[in-house]
Amino acid sequence: MIKLPKAISDFMTIFNKNKYEIYVVGGAVRNLLLNKEVTNWDFTTNAIPEEIQKLFPDSFYNNDYGTVSIPSKLITIFEVTPFRKEGKYKDNRHPSSLSWAKTVEEDLGRRDFTVNAIAYDGKKIIDPYDGQKDLKGLLIKAVRDADERFKEDALRMLRGVRFAAELGFLIEEKTKKSISQNAGLISNISWERIRDEFLKILKSDFPSEGVLFLKNTGLLSYILPEVDICFTIPQKSPNRHHVYDVGTHLVMALKNCPSKDPITRFATLIHDIGKASTFRREETTGQITFYNHEVVGKRQAEEIASRFKLSNVEKDKLITLVAEHQFTVSELQTDKAIRRFIKSVGKNYLQDMLDLRTGDRIGSGAKPTSWRNELFKKRLIEVQKQPFAIKDLKINGEDVMKILKIKPGPKVGIILTKLFELVVEKKIENERKMLLKQTALIN
Ligand code: ATP
Ligand code: MG
Repeated sequence: MIKLPKAISDFMTIFNKNKYEIYVVGGAVRNLLLNKEVTNWDFTTNAIPEEIQKLFPDSFYNNDYGTVSIPSKLITIFEVTPFRKEGKYKDNRHPSSLSWAKTVEEDLGRRDFTVNAIAYDGKKIIDPYDGQKDLKGLLIKAVRDADERFKEDALRMLRGVRFAAELGFLIEEKTKKSISQNAGLISNISWERIRDEFLKILKSDFPSEGVLFLKNTGLLSYILPEVDICFTIPQKSPNRHHVYDVGTHLVMALKNCPSKDPITRFATLIHDIGKASTFRREETTGQITFYNHEVVGKRQAEEIASRFKLSNVEKDKLITLVAEHQFTVSELQTDKAIRRFIKSVGKNYLQDMLDLRTGDRIGSGAKPTSWRNELFKKRLIEVQKQPFAIKDLKINGEDVMKILKIKPGPKVGIILTKLFELVVEKKIENERKMLLKQTALIN
C-alpha cells in the first residue's frame, strides 16, 4: 500500500468532500511504487476546470491542456488535469481537439507508457495496462498500440528513451521496434522539446545507455547525425592505442565522464565529432590521422548549440569545451603555457574540462589518470595562486595611496609593480593583509 504525504491526502480530501473523484497519476505514482523521490505531483479528476477553480480561487488555468495549477503551501504547485480523451492527432504533435473523458480508465488510455498510466486515489490502485508488472520487469512499454502512440505525438519516442535512461529500464521489444519504424517522425517535433528531453537523457543515471538506445533505434541520425556517423569512423592504426571506433569512443567517454552537468556531458559526447570529416589514412604506413579535428569540431559544436537552441551560457560552455579538449599535459610546460590554457578555457570551466579529459582517457582504454595528469592539476592550482597581472593583486592603487598618505602619481604604480614582483617571485603571498603590511615597509 502506498502512503501519501499528509499535504497530498488533505488536498485530495477537498475534492472527495465535494463529491469529485481525484487520483494521483503519472510520475508521482511511478516513483512512489519504485520508492523514489517524487518531485512533482500530477493529479487527474472528473471535475472540469471551472469546477476545480471554484474549489481553489487562487488557481490558474492553462487552456491548451486543460491543466489547472494550484499553488500549495508545502510543495510548489499541484497540477490537476480533468480526465481527458484525445481526438485525432494532426502533424504528429497536437491533438486536433481536447475533450473530457468520463472515467479514469479512459484517461489512462491516452497516456504514453504503462508505467506512467497508473492512478491512485489514496486507497486503490487503478492499473488497466499492467504498469506495475512493467515496473517489476523494468520495462518501458507503450500504452495500447505503440505505432498509434508515436504517430500521435512523436516526442513520446524520446520520452521513452529518457525514462529508460532515468530508471535504468529496457524498452520493450514491440515498443522499440515501433520507435525504429517511426524514428523519422521526430523531425516534426520542435527543437525546444527535443532539447529538453535530450538534456534529461544526458542528466540521467544512464546517459550512455540512453545514447545507445537513440543510436540503435535510428533516432540519433535525426537529432545528432554528427555523432551517428562517427560509428563508421575507425581509429585503430599501427602504433596507436585506440581500441574503439570514434562513435563507440564518444559513448564510452560519456559513460566515464565524472561530471553530472548535462552540458559537460554533452561536450564529452561530441568532443571528437570533427574526426569524421578529417579522417585520413596514409597509404604507405596505414597510419590514421585527424588533423585539426578540434577546429572542425568547434564549428560543428556551434551548429549543434544553435540547433538545440541552447542558452548563451550553455552555448559558450559547450563550444569552449569542444574547442579546447586537445590541451597538452606535460611536465615540460612552462607556467606561462599553463596560464594560457587557463585563460582560453576560463576558470569556471576548468573542472569540466578535466572531467571531459577523464572520460576521454577511460573511453580510450587508458587509466583514469597518470602522474603527469596529477602534476598538471597541482600546477593549475599553484599557477592560479600567482597573480596574472597587477590588477589581480589583492590590493590596489587606492589602498597604496591611503596607507602611504600620497596623492595619485607614478609612485603608486612603482609600488604596485614592486609588490607584484615580490608575489611572482613567491617572496610574499597574494594576500591582502600581508600586502598592506608590505606596502608600509616598501616605503
Ligand atoms: P517526470 O515528472 O519525473 O519527468 P512524469 O511521468 O511525471 O515524469 P510528466 O512530463 O510530468 O512526466 O507528465 C506527467 C504524466 O502525463 C506522464 O506520466 C504521462 O502519463 C503523461 N504524459 C506527459 N506527456 C505525455 C505525452 N507526450 N504523451 C502522453 N502522455 C504524456
Ligand atoms: Mg511529472
